Amino acid sequence: MSLYLHVLPAGPIETNAYLLTDTARGEAVLIDAPGEVWRDVKPILEREACVLKELWLTHGHWDHMQGVAEVVAATGAQVSAHADDKILLETPLPGTIRLAPVKVARWVKQGDRVTALGLEWEIRHVPGHCPGSVLFWCAAQGLAFSGDAIFRRSVGRTDFPNCGFPQLEKSIRTQIYTLPAETILYPGHGGPTTVAEERAENPHVRG
Ligand SMILES: [Zn+2]
Repeated sequence: MSLYLHVLPAGPIETNAYLLTDTARGEAVLIDAPGEVWRDVKPILEREACVLKELWLTHGHWDHMQGVAEVVAATGAQVSAHADDKILLETPLPGTIRLAPVKVARWVKQGDRVTALGLEWEIRHVPGHCPGSVLFWCAAQGLAFSGDAIFRRSVGRTDFPNCGFPQLEKSIRTQIYTLPAETILYPGHGGPTTVAEERAENPHVRG
């Protein structure tokens, strides 16, 4: 097996980036790019002799995209995201946090299937925390990168514009709890969990 998962919490609020490397193919995919994540990604790519081909964004919140420009400039990785976060990604609000607009190469949507690292991935739209929240599910590996929709025993905030708990609850029930029970969920913050565990134990959305 030549597939490796590197968990890289980075940025001011410990946002998880996930770097998947396939050392046999010499290719890598990064899921989310918190600020300064490149500092952690670069040495791994060098050590494992992998080229970063793609950068997948689970949603357009600043703490998941602050590092995109630096990663793309260094690697030329193609960025994928959901079009419902187009405004957040392309015209970030001016504020105290320095954010460069993100250039998205591929807009993904519910039910899309993409191939990366020789694996098939299904994209599921999980709005409620952010309009363009998506998860990337690989059935063959039994894992999904689920962003800020659900956390271990918790769920994402829903007090953002065009978001809300009813919508998030629907996303979790129809798009996350319908994944195979043993699927490992890698969230945007905190440690991993499984679909079965959250269905049984999540205090906000019981399966
Ligand atoms: Zn978020």
